[in-house]
Amino acid sequence: MKITVRFTLFLVSILSFSPDLAAQIAYSKITVEQLESAYEAFKEPAITHRRFKHADIQPLIQKHSVAFQIEKLGESVAGKSISSMNWGDGKTKVMLWSQMHGNESTATMALFDLFNFLEGKDDGYEALRELLKNQLSLKFIPMLNPDGADAFKRRNNLDIDLNRDAISQISPEAVILKKARDDFEPEFGFNLHDQQIYYNVVNTPKQATISLLAPAYNYKTEINDVRGRAMQTIAGMNELLQELIPGQVGKYDDAFEPRAFGDNIQKWGTSTILIESGGYLGDPEKQEIRKINFMIILNALHQIATQGYEQYTTDQYFAIPDNGFQLMDLIINEMQVKVDGTWYPVDLAIRRRETENAEGYFMSGSVEDLGDMQVFFGFETLDATGLHYIEGKVYPESFESIAEISGEKVLELLRKGFMAVKVKNAEARQVHDLPILVLKTTEKFSSGWMTGSSPNFFLSKEGVLKYAVVNGYLIDLENPKKQEIRNRVF
Ligand SMILES: [Zn+2]
Repeated sequence: MKITVRFTLFLVSILSFSPDLAAQIAYSKITVEQLESAYEAFKEPAITHRRFKHADIQPLIQKHSVAFQIEKLGESVAGKSISSMNWGDGKTKVMLWSQMHGNESTATMALFDLFNFLEGKDDGYEALRELLKNQLSLKFIPMLNPDGADAFKRRNNLDIDLNRDAISQISPEAVILKKARDDFEPEFGFNLHDQQIYYNVVNTPKQATISLLAPAYNYKTEINDVRGRAMQTIAGMNELLQELIPGQVGKYDDAFEPRAFGDNIQKWGTSTILIESGGYLGDPEKQEIRKINFMIILNALHQIATQGYEQYTTDQYFAIPDNGFQLMDLIINEMQVKVDGTWYPVDLAIRRRETENAEGYFMSGSVEDLGDMQVFFGFETLDATGLHYIEGKVYPESFESIAEISGEKVLELLRKGFMAVKVKNAEARQVHDLPILVLKTTEKFSSGWMTGSSPNFFLSKEGVLKYAVVNGYLIDLENPKKQEIRNRVF
C-alpha cells in the first residue's frame, strides 16, 4: 500500500511535545486513493439505495456485535429500537448520530460502510485502524428516528422535528440523544443530515453536495475553544472535499437555533460538526455522496486522533463560501403570458419535489417564483423568447389502462395539444413514467404559470406547439429526449 509521508512543521512540533505520537507519522495524511480504495473494499452491499428501513439495518447492526459493543438506548414513539455502537478504547471520545430526520439517510449508509472498515483486518489499513482504536472511543447512533425513516419523512411519529426538541425533549428519540451525550460526554460530535438538492454554493450554479457547519452556541455566534476546534476540523475536511468535489462545498447558515441539537451539543461542551449531504448531478440515490461521507468522516476521525486539525485555522473555516438556495429544476426564460389582454415576457422557476407514496414516490412540480429569475440557476434552462403560453386540453376518449398508452401515443397527443388522458383502470396516486397527466378520479387537471401553480402547459411559436411542460418536466416536442419521469395518477 502506498503511504504518503508529509513531514510538516506541524508534525515536527507535535513530535517534540508528544513523543508517544511517533507511531502516527506514517499516517500524517490519508490520501484520496487510500480513502477511495477503503470505501470500495468495505462498502456495505446490503444497502443500495436511500430508502432502506429500520428492519433492514437490524441484521447489519447485529453482524458487528463482536467487534462493537452494542447497546439498546431505547425505543421510538412506535416502539422501534434505537441502538448505539461503541468501538475503540482511546481517550478522545467522539459521538456520531445520523438520521434524526427520517428522510435524511445518506450518512447512515456511510456509517455502515465505516463499521465494516473498522472491523476489517490484514488488509494494509492496520496502522490506521490501530491508531483510531488507541486514540479514540467512538459511539455511533445510526438512524435516530426509525419511525421517520420507515415512512421516509422528516419528523417523528409525534410529528415533532427532533432538531427542535433538544430542550423540551417531548420525544423519546430526543431523550435518547440527550442522555447518550450526557452519559458519554464526547469531546467531538458529528450531527449527520441531508439538505435539499436545491442548495448551491452561493451565487454559483454549483450544487452544494456537502455543506458543513460548526453550529453556534449563542445568538452572538461567538467562538470558544469548543466551537473553534470544530471549525478547525471542518477546515481540514474541506481541504479533502476540494479534491473530491471542487467548488461544491458550502458553509451552512450559523444562525443560533436555541432548540436544535447541534447548537446545544456545542453549548454543552462537545465540539460539534454538522454534515449536510445535498445533491450531486446524476446521483439520485446518493451513492456517490455516501462515498464522500465515508471518506470525510474517516478523514476527520484521523484528524481528531492525531490532533491534525490543529494545523487549520478558523479563518480557513470562514473562507468556505456560504450555502445558497438558488437552484431550480427548470428555468424558462422570457415566455409570453397574457394578462388582461396584453402579453408579457416572464421567467418561470420550477421545482419538482418528491412526495412519498405507499408504492414509492412521485414528483410534484410547482412554480416557485416568476418574473426576473436571474438570481437562480436551473439544472435545465430553456430560452423561451418568442414562445407563447397555451393551455392544454383533456383527450376526450378513455384508455383502459396505462399499459395501453405507448410513448409514441403520448407524443402524438401532446403534439395535438392534449395535456391529459383519462384511464379507466388505474389506482389513484399510482406512480407512472408517462410524460402526460393521467386522470382517473377527475375530469380536469390544474394548470397555470403563476406561483404555486402546477406547471402544466404548452409553449407555442406561430401556432405550432414546440414544448410541453408536464408536472414541471420539459418535453421538447420536436426532439424529445429520454428522461426519468415520476408522475402519478390523479
Ligand atoms: Zn436534517
